[in-house]
Amino acid sequence: MSTAKRYNLLINPVGLTGAAAQAYTHNVEKHLSWIDGTKVGRLLLKATGWHARNNPGNLVGGSMPIQPYTGGGCNAVVNNATSGPNGWSQPTVTYSPNVFNHGGACHADLKKSSTNRGLYPDELLFHELVHGFRGGSGRFRASTTNGGLVRYTGTEEFIAVLTTNIYISDPSDGSKTGLRRDHQGFTPLEKGFAGPFEFFRSSKNASTLIDQFCRENPSFTKWVSEVKAPFNPIAAYYSDQAKAKKYSEGAVALVRDGEWVELLGKLATGKINL
Ligand SMILES: [Zn+2]
Repeated sequence: MSTAKRYNLLINPVGLTGAAAQAYTHNVEKHLSWIDGTKVGRLLLKATGWHARNNPGNLVGGSMPIQPYTGGGCNAVVNNATSGPNGWSQPTVTYSPNVFNHGGACHADLKKSSTNRGLYPDELLFHELVHGFRGGSGRFRASTTNGGLVRYTGTEEFIAVLTTNIYISDPSDGSKTGLRRDHQGFTPLEKGFAGPFEFFRSSKNASTLIDQFCRENPSFTKWVSEVKAPFNPIAAYYSDQAKAKKYSEGAVALVRDGEWVELLGKLATGKINL
């Protein structure tokens, strides 16, 4: 059975015919098999398949379509078509392997480690599949992020970039770029945020959003927390929420959030950590 079928994904080469359609299906299937060959990747596919079988109404026709990306630039996107009580659902993943080819929109960024974070084909596809999984679980939220997380654009991009960074950090992923800073471009995550607890310094909202993610997708996040990887803030959160929250309320987070009054108050009382 193909990897796509096993996890209720439907590769649909809309707009392509003949050899081009065959090549599309072959290449997407290949990239899915790379994802399936890693611990975190398999967990995401497993969780997506579970929702497809148990909540088929969250997907059009009961499976999650992956079809060619036809927009501009180095990108791939997910559209969630229906709004429900807990969020958007019915995702369509659009992804085109040929953006990585010579002359393709992602090719130039791929060549340098300073601009390729999260940009290997399986990493970009994994990122979109996180959006798809959130839609498949009826939890996709179109809300924006601000303060220290402003460069993540929104809640869903924060969740997708974070989860993809854990996928990249997973030792069972043998071919990888490195941790990505945020949702603006493909530049490296700064060293001061690249540890499992240190990541919570990104913002007060880092612990709030990770807490929300863990409550909304309890099985998937619990599984991910059990994967041993150098960068796994979800594991850190499950192991010691109080410690994670401390980092999220420290001086670095308050500066990034622009919370000067709170920072000055904490400095005055000496109750502050980095
Ligand atoms: Zn995204």
